[in-house]
Amino acid sequence: MAEPDLMDKIVALCKRRGFIFQSSEIYGGLNGAWDYGPLGAELKRNLKNAWWQAVVHGRDDVVGLDAAILMHPKTWEASGHAANFADMMVDCKNTQCGKRWRADQLNHGQCPACGGSSFTQARAFNLMLKTNLGAMEDSASVVYLRPETAQGIFVNFNNVIDTTHRKLPFGIAQIGKSFRNEVTPGNFIFRTREFEQMEIEYFCRPQEASSKYKEWIQSRYQWYMDLGIKKENLQLRQHGKEELAHYAAGCTDIEYNFPFGWSELEGIANRTDYDLKQHAQFSGKDLQYQDSVTNEKFYPYVIEPSGGCDRATLAFLVDAYHEEKVNDQTRVVMKFHPKLSPIKVAVLPLLKKNDGVVALAKSIKTQLQKDMVCVYDDTAAIGKLYRRQDEVGTSFCVTVDVQSLEDKQATVRERDTMGQERIAVERLKEYLKKKLS
Ligand code: ATP
Repeated sequence: MAEPDLMDKIVALCKRRGFIFQSSEIYGGLNGAWDYGPLGAELKRNLKNAWWQAVVHGRDDVVGLDAAILMHPKTWEASGHAANFADMMVDCKNTQCGKRWRADQLNHGQCPACGGSSFTQARAFNLMLKTNLGAMEDSASVVYLRPETAQGIFVNFNNVIDTTHRKLPFGIAQIGKSFRNEVTPGNFIFRTREFEQMEIEYFCRPQEASSKYKEWIQSRYQWYMDLGIKKENLQLRQHGKEELAHYAAGCTDIEYNFPFGWSELEGIANRTDYDLKQHAQFSGKDLQYQDSVTNEKFYPYVIEPSGGCDRATLAFLVDAYHEEKVNDQTRVVMKFHPKLSPIKVAVLPLLKKNDGVVALAKSIKTQLQKDMVCVYDDTAAIGKLYRRQDEVGTSFCVTVDVQSLEDKQATVRERDTMGQERIAVERLKEYLKKKLS
């Protein structure tokens, strides 16, 4: 399968089965924004829960935060976004084309759309989205939709220390929406103007920063593999000196082999003590850490693992997509990790005209749905019902037949192997819970 073809298939499947829709589609769509449908919402929520479990609940040294999207405008002066968060942008001068590009996206000086080589002067284009708070639309009311969640963490550094009495090293994690007026959004949900980030600021002593940086690279890389991404589709790319921000002591990207090429999923950076110092300077507040034993005061270093929920969702969709030949027919199956599957179990009655079978199937569904995401479907023949569930990555199908009324057993079919097993109805929940854990 040619790789761009794969992307088309995934976009089509996402729309057809309710994972992802174009934003405001009935009005012709909005460039750079996407809506998650019923299954996409489950998938993304599962992904965020898996992240939160791994980096907050599963550790002793990280706490969570949920800061506002709107922040005091001075935040962005301190962070450097007001002055520097810009892409250089050019317009193709070919009147038939006129497309806008990031200057670094030109193809050896040529327009990627029409091949033209004449462009407007490169202009800096700030990526922050602006809005106004309150009734007056003047310069005093301007605020920005945050372009990253990280700054919400830094400005709350003292609040978190004062309320949790954390000692170094410790981290603060946050998931939330961010906005960037990207010049060229594209590749489906890879680059959008509204997206969600999962970020950690891990504060530590300067002398331990380089070992913590390495630990975080490894643990974040491992997280993607633990959730089923194939090792050969992941790589680490260390930034060269010329790529690093002036304050950063190191940065490594976790890249995924997307159908459009290797691209960043998540970045892990050693940001030194830059951010806290900047906010201390701009706010006039003391943001140093005080060691409770020695009373020594200093600015901690920070390691920042920063990933995107949408990019990760796309990587998990791509990695899960499989086409298999079964009895001369193509079976499309999304091989999601059980933690990520939007639907864990589908209960399917073999005979929808048999009241006993339907009643038993419905009662199984009612029992299971207290503990796992479960659907009931009787709207087609069993072969078609299986294909539907395979295509959305449902981990298990439970079928109920006439025999079930006598022997009180149902058939459990596992998605990847298609292997089937008869299990006593009263043991079903425990059996499935174990398999899904
Ligand atoms: P890129 O170089 O691809 O623009 P970046 O290096 O600017 O990304 P960061 O500022 O490091 O990205 O943001 C951290 C993470 O947030 C990225 O690794 C990515 O997963 C996600 N992210 C950033 N910009 C976008 C976007 N426009 N759409 C979707 N996700 C994004």
